[in-house]
Amino acid sequence: MRVVIDGQKCQGHQMCAIAAPEVFGSDDYGNAVLLIDGDVPAALEAKVRRAEGNCPEHAIRIEP
Ligand code: SF4
Repeated sequence: MRVVIDGQKCQGHQMCAIAAPEVFGSDDYGNAVLLIDGDVPAALEAKVRRAEGNCPEHAIRIEP
């Protein structure tokens, strides 16, 4: 699976980085950035799903 952050929606709560610190970091403004390229490693998929569910702005999209 792949994950995408909508930078227009992201408000920098960093809930995603708490749920999946291997996948989500933050830029100089505190908005989320992806720390991985391409497919999410299988071992991190559950954490990414949790991050997607926890994002208050619905800024995280999971693609098959
Ligand atoms: S939880 Fe959502 S709004 Fe907050 S930093 Fe992460 S992607 Fe952005």
